[in-house]
Amino acid sequence: MNQKIQQKVIELSKALINPQNSYNHHISFLVLNNRILHIGCNASWRTHPKSLEIGYFSESPHSELAVFLKLRKKDLITRLTMINVRINTLYDLKISKPCKICTGWLKIIGVRHVWYTTGINKEFAKLW
Ligand SMILES: [Zn+2]
Repeated sequence: MNQKIQQKVIELSKALINPQNSYNHHISFLVLNNRILHIGCNASWRTHPKSLEIGYFSESPHSELAVFLKLRKKDLITRLTMINVRINTLYDLKISKPCKICTGWLKIIGVRHVWYTTGINKEFAKLW
């Protein structure tokens, strides 16, 4: 993944979070050819029936599902890279590796690549 897009997703994540909210911010980006198409955040107060279908324990979509729901042309998914960022209210990056349920589901829908923050400095790791 190129340096510019890494910086961009970090900047956007910082801009998106509300430091007054102690909530754990997990943000997913869908990227095509180094262009960000959609951004999705986890939100415990939001529900979607697809959450239970995937296998989550509650109806709240994880950020991976939240961003996928914004994608209108679902067949595009096999060309897209998903980038996860987890950030706390002090703007520290944390590990954002997708959970087992998201990982299995992302494989099924065929997302091309998955990257996530490791929580070590501004490092990203590739899941596939
Ligand atoms: Zn998940």
